[in-house]
Amino acid sequence: MFEKVLVANRGEIAVRVMAACEELGIETVAIYSDADRDGGHVAYADEAYNVGPAPASDSYLDQETIIEVAERAGADAIHPGYGFLAENAEFARRVESTDGITWVGPSSDAMETLGEKTAARSVMESADVPVVPGTTEPVDDAEEVRELGEEYGYPIAIKAEGGGGGRGMKIVHSDAEVDDALESAKREGEAYFGNDSVYVEKYLDAPKHIEVQVLADQHGNVRHLGERDCSLQRRHQKVIEEAPSPILDADLRAEIGDAARRGVREADYTNAGTVEFLVEDGEFYFMEVNTRIQVEHTVTEEVTGIDIVRWQLRVAAGEELGFEQDDVTIEGHAAEYRINAENPAEEFAPTPGTLETYRPPASIGVRLDHAVGQGDEIGGDYDSMIGKLIVTGEDREHCLDRSKRALEHFEIEGLHTTIPFHRLMLDDETFVSGEHTTKYLDSELDATDLDAAVEQWGPDQTDSDSAGASATELAVEVDGKRFDVVVEDGLQQVPSGGSSGGSDSSGGVSGGSSGGQQTAAAGAVTAEMQGTILSVEVAEGEQIAQGEVICVLEAMKMENDVVASTSGTVASVPVSEGDSVDMGDTLIVLE
Ligand code: ADP
Repeated sequence: MFEKVLVANRGEIAVRVMAACEELGIETVAIYSDADRDGGHVAYADEAYNVGPAPASDSYLDQETIIEVAERAGADAIHPGYGFLAENAEFARRVESTDGITWVGPSSDAMETLGEKTAARSVMESADVPVVPGTTEPVDDAEEVRELGEEYGYPIAIKAEGGGGGRGMKIVHSDAEVDDALESAKREGEAYFGNDSVYVEKYLDAPKHIEVQVLADQHGNVRHLGERDCSLQRRHQKVIEEAPSPILDADLRAEIGDAARRGVREADYTNAGTVEFLVEDGEFYFMEVNTRIQVEHTVTEEVTGIDIVRWQLRVAAGEELGFEQDDVTIEGHAAEYRINAENPAEEFAPTPGTLETYRPPASIGVRLDHAVGQGDEIGGDYDSMIGKLIVTGEDREHCLDRSKRALEHFEIEGLHTTIPFHRLMLDDETFVSGEHTTKYLDSELDATDLDAAVEQWGPDQTDSDSAGASATELAVEVDGKRFDVVVEDGLQQVPSGGSSGGSDSSGGVSGGSSGGQQTAAAGAVTAEMQGTILSVEVAEGEQIAQGEVICVLEAMKMENDVVASTSGTVASVPVSEGDSVDMGDTLIVLE
């Protein structure tokens, strides 16, 4: 086994890999950019090296520097995580040719074969795996694209060879759109993946995205760990992933799993990988292979009990997979929620900021993969991920019930997150039924529902809006029962006479902490429920102590004492005996 592994990545995936190393007794080396000096992955590692300025091209993508650091640190392996250099065959080849350092991933040859989409399609065809109808050769000419449009029927997709995550993919609905789409797919391919070669596929109407996790060792063993359903997508980007898929039956599951194994075996593939398929009308079609660990590997780990990252390290070190295909069983159901610093009400625009409050959920069935803590900055230099919440239950329904609970208890203040979106999905009939396809969100999601979700479940605007905090939260006990009340600042201004001076003068209040406390606690005490005032126990101008009864409120056939949570002077009493009050009505104002 390795002695020291350099993790060429950052954030949660770097920590995930280091956790597996730690459990195997392997020392860990982090790399970081200037922007990540305080990064969670840096703190986690046994040692850490600065590899350059914030832009990824100058740090996390700097192949030469990373290999130099690995040598300097005495690392005997490099794990790339996902993103950055993870699917870069050239980097893998450089690592392979560096003495004493092993690449934790498939061979550079296998990466090259399966990383190019047309080459991968050919490999799959030779392994008898059905592929999405389309070309296995690059296409250069608009006329040829139009002929293919005729042949398959529109819509078709023009895809960049190196593309992924929806980038470099253009959907064409008619002959007239071909020229522009071809040009822009080539442009995007060149810009994002350094490769302007494109090919053509039939664009399926409303498929499911089903992907199969595979693990292969250097001794010819290939296993699949079942499928993940990543059909809930926004603009071709996955947002919630789950395992197993709610739409596969046992036969189709076995067939797809088998196809995935045949395909990667054909490419002499080793280590972990994902074979992606589209499934429509009970038929499945190969789409592409991801030659790395994926963001959503976690849900497979939860339902199989197999630690995929641990196996990545073990097979890279030459070990044999210690289980047969029949040993792999799927138990329960898991879902992963990507918790991103994005505002769902603003087209999911990234919202960098500070995690002023960060209180993640806990308890049974909850796993959190993250590398952040309260007070950390989510910067704008890399992706917007804060962490991944993974929830497991006995079956899908149980998993979704648990997910509701976990998301409700995930408290983040200081920036917008995707939590309101996830909570909306857990009330969404189509998602809950499991019938959603990859088209669902883009065609059906209502922007006003997103606005409402963010309003209801998003960060507390009054807390984070420093320009004018307009409310204070107070805890009040009514008959020994605790209520949290929100006191509007406007109501605090009510004090009659004003002999004690306004809040403007509070800076000059002498007497230290007790004076400060009083000011902070002053304000309107409001009714927590609708009811009738049976008696008022205090009068204007009276000094009252903490715990003193202010009034008695009859509500829900019970008498409730409203008790002052702090001491103070009664500035006004807008209610009197016999009044009926609504929830939120002011009962007294303290100053
Ligand atoms: P990835 O994001 O997995 O790297 P792609 O960019 O190839 O892969 O595909 C992303 C998503 O685009 C898929 O999950 C699917 O929703 C959609 N997609 C890709 N190809 C097709 C197709 N031929 N027909 C319908 N949808 C497609």
